[in-house]
Amino acid sequence: MRIFEEMESEVRGYVRSFPVIFDVAQGSLFYDEHGNRFIDFFSGAGTLNYGHNNPIISEALIDYLQKERIVHALDKATVAKREFLRTLRDVILAPRNLKYKVQFTGPTGTNAVETALKLARMVKRRSNILAFTNGYHGLTMGSLAVTGNSFYRDESYGVRHNTDFMPYDGYHGPDIDTLTYLRRYLEDQSSGIDLPAAIIVETVQGEGGVNLASDEWLRGVERICLDFDILLIVDDIQMGNGRTGPFFSFERSGISPDLVTFSKSIGGGLPLALLFMRSELDQWHPGEHTGTFRGNNLAFVAAAAALNHYWENPGEFTATINHKGNIVATEVNRILESYPECGGKLRGVGMVWGVEFPNTDFASQVSHEAFKNGVVIETAGAQSHVLKFFPALTIDEELLREGLARIEQAIVSLLSEKKDRLAGAIE
Ligand code: PMP
Repeated sequence: MRIFEEMESEVRGYVRSFPVIFDVAQGSLFYDEHGNRFIDFFSGAGTLNYGHNNPIISEALIDYLQKERIVHALDKATVAKREFLRTLRDVILAPRNLKYKVQFTGPTGTNAVETALKLARMVKRRSNILAFTNGYHGLTMGSLAVTGNSFYRDESYGVRHNTDFMPYDGYHGPDIDTLTYLRRYLEDQSSGIDLPAAIIVETVQGEGGVNLASDEWLRGVERICLDFDILLIVDDIQMGNGRTGPFFSFERSGISPDLVTFSKSIGGGLPLALLFMRSELDQWHPGEHTGTFRGNNLAFVAAAAALNHYWENPGEFTATINHKGNIVATEVNRILESYPECGGKLRGVGMVWGVEFPNTDFASQVSHEAFKNGVVIETAGAQSHVLKFFPALTIDEELLREGLARIEQAIVSLLSEKKDRLAGAIE
């Protein structure tokens, strides 16, 4: 570990939570350099929905490289890009009756978000954007301005002009409809909230703590956008690519966003980000929003292989995702019922589940203990108080159950340690 401490900035994050040197990875397993085995319940924060080194993807990449086909081409036309665009149109957009145009942005999620915010402001000639409490949209300055978590939002070094936050679904508890509040602010021209160019929303807040918006609430946001001539941006960077069951997370609610930001698993594990936009919003001049790494040909190859393989028959893949998600939900509920003293509450959909514990440190302790037991699982939420179950969509059932059993062992050993400490204190 010494070279990392010597050379790499203090900004290092995940290496502190999972302090081993990883080397080999296949599917939902990875191994450190000494051959220790870990089950992956984190999936690169949603980048590895198809698992590590998925052979369908790796074989396509190896073949492409061996034939010396083009890797970097700025945004020039390539055969790899053509195949990806055709696949995106025929396998994903057309069957869903979506007529989006697509813009390749810089390769990470935050680039897609920046692009969406910029385009929305340009088209509407308005500067304000509304975001929601606990939203996470990235950490470059524009995206940071619509990200809620105070850990990332030190007022002293940055500006975040022209964004306002509104309460997400359930923010004030189950009995308060937060959309009444939002609508009132927009209706009242003296509310202090400028009419926004766009509202940006996640259908399920991943980093924010696995908070689910109801279908009704999402339709309500869309209604408000239509009533006030505001663009609706769905940030599907983490919840897209099948994470919640269907390919796009907003499919369940039937809404039609004007803009959709997309990244993470679309590149099959390689960096790729894009913005879907209704064609009339495509008001860019040629080259007006540019960048060196827009559209990575290796990621196009990986993406086309994954889309063709998994999404040709979406019903089947979605059913598998939901089936595995049910295993997670059933098993985690059983664990929570067996150990009521931890007070955990489960929520989620598809293959994204979170358990919130009343003791805000407990989720981090479980993550730490589970790692000792050979499982990589992360926390989410403003206080890292939610344990987030995020395995690859392709994980084997057996491995999924093994991972869950190992997490249960972690919970049991933490609870018995706690009991021992209490008993020690009483003696
Ligand atoms: N939006 C959402 C919903 C995300 O979950 C993330 C990353 N966790 C981002 C944007 C930013 O993506 P990136 O880290 O690739 O910039």
